[in-house]
Amino acid sequence: MITANFKDLIDAELARHWDVSMENVTPPLMQRALSSVIKDLLSQKRQHYMKKFQDTCEKQVYYLCMEFLVGKSLRNNLFNLEIEEQISKLLHEEYQIDLADLYEIERDPGLGNGGLGRLAACFLDSLATQNYPVTGFSIKYEFGLFKQKLIDGWQTELPDDWLTTSYVWLSPRFQDRCIVRFDGAVHEEWTSEGLTIRLDNPTEIEAVPYDMMISGYSSDAVSLLRLWEAHSLNRFDMNLFSQGEYIRAMSEDSMAEAITKVLYPSDNHVEGKELRLKQQYFLVSSTAQGIVSTHYNRYKTLDNFSDKTAIHINDTHPALVIPELLRIFMDEYRYSWDRAWDLVTQTVSYTNHTVLPEALERFQENIIQSRLPRIYMIIQEINRRFIDSIIAQDLGDASRANRMSIFSNNKINMANLCIVGSYSVNGVAGLHTEILKKTIFKDFYDCSPKKFLNVTNGITHRRWLNQANPLLANLLDDLIGPDYRIHSQELSGLLQFKNDDGVLAALDHIKLENKKRLAEYIQKTNCISINVDSIFDIQAKRLHEYKRQLLNALRIISLIIDIQEGSAGEMFPETFIFAAKAAPGYFRAKEIIQLIYTLSGYVNGDDQLSKYINVVFLENYSVSLAEIIMPAGELSEQISLAGKEASGTGNMKFMLNGAITIGTYDGANVEMIRQVGEDNFFLFGLKDYEVENLWCQGYNSIQYLQNCPRLHRVIDFLNTGISGRSFESISKYLLGDSRGGDPYMCFADFESYFNAHEKASSIYCTDKKKWNQMSLSNIAAAGYFSSDRTVKGYSDKIWNIKPFTLKD
Ligand SMILES: *Cc1c(COP(=O)(O)O)cnc(C)c1O
Repeated sequence: MITANFKDLIDAELARHWDVSMENVTPPLMQRALSSVIKDLLSQKRQHYMKKFQDTCEKQVYYLCMEFLVGKSLRNNLFNLEIEEQISKLLHEEYQIDLADLYEIERDPGLGNGGLGRLAACFLDSLATQNYPVTGFSIKYEFGLFKQKLIDGWQTELPDDWLTTSYVWLSPRFQDRCIVRFDGAVHEEWTSEGLTIRLDNPTEIEAVPYDMMISGYSSDAVSLLRLWEAHSLNRFDMNLFSQGEYIRAMSEDSMAEAITKVLYPSDNHVEGKELRLKQQYFLVSSTAQGIVSTHYNRYKTLDNFSDKTAIHINDTHPALVIPELLRIFMDEYRYSWDRAWDLVTQTVSYTNHTVLPEALERFQENIIQSRLPRIYMIIQEINRRFIDSIIAQDLGDASRANRMSIFSNNKINMANLCIVGSYSVNGVAGLHTEILKKTIFKDFYDCSPKKFLNVTNGITHRRWLNQANPLLANLLDDLIGPDYRIHSQELSGLLQFKNDDGVLAALDHIKLENKKRLAEYIQKTNCISINVDSIFDIQAKRLHEYKRQLLNALRIISLIIDIQEGSAGEMFPETFIFAAKAAPGYFRAKEIIQLIYTLSGYVNGDDQLSKYINVVFLENYSVSLAEIIMPAGELSEQISLAGKEASGTGNMKFMLNGAITIGTYDGANVEMIRQVGEDNFFLFGLKDYEVENLWCQGYNSIQYLQNCPRLHRVIDFLNTGISGRSFESISKYLLGDSRGGDPYMCFADFESYFNAHEKASSIYCTDKKKWNQMSLSNIAAAGYFSSDRTVKGYSDKIWNIKPFTLKD
């Protein structure tokens, strides 16, 4: 626990920055003052820790990711510093302010799209908690992920101007700014020192770092997240300005600053745009320059660079760090190619996050050639040498070298660049890693099998259990003691209460309270009254065809038809809750949102239907909304087509909060079943190899329709239209064959999905005790999915680093 005189610190902060005294401090002012105090304490704590750590000369980890979805900071920091109760009491007694009101005020920095960015944020938390020193690097997007607003069910996007209310957790570090160079011409010259290479007439952009402290729970370490902001170097072209070209002088300014203006809003889909490439190079160049110069200043050599440095690239987005490091080593520190190459390939490791072809990055060669000419030359040389080595190995397959090439069809394959330039490649769940080895990375795996390994994703259970669900956390503290906060496997201690009716009743009561909290939120945002005794069946994640929100909607339609036909006699009331953002240009995804929204209105306007079911679409899915949703979940929908979801982490958050998963054999679901047992999971659907076989043989949707009267009626319902709106385009899509139809084969899993739901409802309504036991088993088995376990895996198996604690 951190100790300080918080009253004095807060009062000083209020007086210094806002000139207010404690009598007239408002919650927004207090939110800023308290947050500033905590930020300063964390900065000091980090400084102290890093100073001691530097003395050891041990290896350090740098984690590069284009997204960090950190969520709110104040509550997390107070919890981690173990001062939440103390501060709450102080605010009440001295200022008559409720700490919960301060939590509400803070903005959620939406610097990520979904799972990828949230994973990066969980890692910084878990690394700090376990006393691993780490720095994360990303971009300070002026606009994070858009705010979602449905207008008549159609998603529209509003800018997320999260920085306007003076977000207090970031501190500029002007002393560490640097220059990133684009464009220009490569100039080669033989001098007395040999060949020198420089860039003539580059466009120079200034990179300014902003630092955020990420605390760990009850530990010595504090992680650092460094976000780069782009600035025009000549804040103003005085020439243009004095010639009266005021507007042109301004616009060249904004061109530079466009680089960090906005986060690309696609999840699992690439854009291939020039601006996106610039963002990526901007991140890796500023980061690599900083890491190398810090190292050089400390050790006066780079010979030991890879002994002291691990650089991790999260997905291919920061792949250009590989040629950028080579450039710095060769052009600035005059290393030979061979020595520079050894340093880089002993430093960089890479995590793959998807096998979906539309998400695999391939940039047009000519964009890289013109915008990053020196980087382009280096990538060519990497490839030339790599292909030579593959041909020299002569593995008896002439086309192999072609398949492995970084260049093909005038594009640069970023995943291939990552594999060639890294010493380690990992997938994010067991099944995903096996698929990588068998399919898209097979050639690479055959050539260097030892490079490939798996580290299954995780979540920080302190945010997703202790902070999001204090009622459940308190119960656990009472039953098994608080050790599980640091040793998540201790959650298994809950299993001994599986037959304890008192504990089962307490769990049931806690779930009800959390359902009420979500129902109040829904009442406020959607003006819908929810039956809190109904099953809360939730699908919250990005809207994507492969995640199959549509399969869920098809079943809801089928239930509507049952109720209307009077065959719903035994049906237990069920509330379907969705939350999902779609990429702005993803028409099909927006159509699916509109379908769900329309179903919601249709059901709620009908007394007969709303007795049995309710459908809710919550706008603006974010970390803060997820923190309200997860504790209220009873059925967790994880229904992607097998083989398509790399891991999923939403599934883990629900499990940890006692939801039972209805899911396919995909991603981390496979390992959830292994942990909790198939009896405590509603498994359905094709396995990944069955999916592949079916697709190769030719998926014939009509055949499923003919064999399933239910599906037939669902299609008729879509064609007839709902509340006067036709959804024929969706039914056409579903009815298409393997050319042009539904690539995620909703029909193929429909019956199996339907039956799994029947089983779930039946247990819920006839044997609630058994349901609660299943729920308890899920909480008890969720310890494996803590990101504490995940980052330990990275540290032991990939980075080769050990925890460092301060001993006094
Ligand atoms: C956890 C999380 C995700 C990832 O959800 P999946 O179900 O794994 O796709 C996405 N967005 C937010 C805000 C999250 O908290």
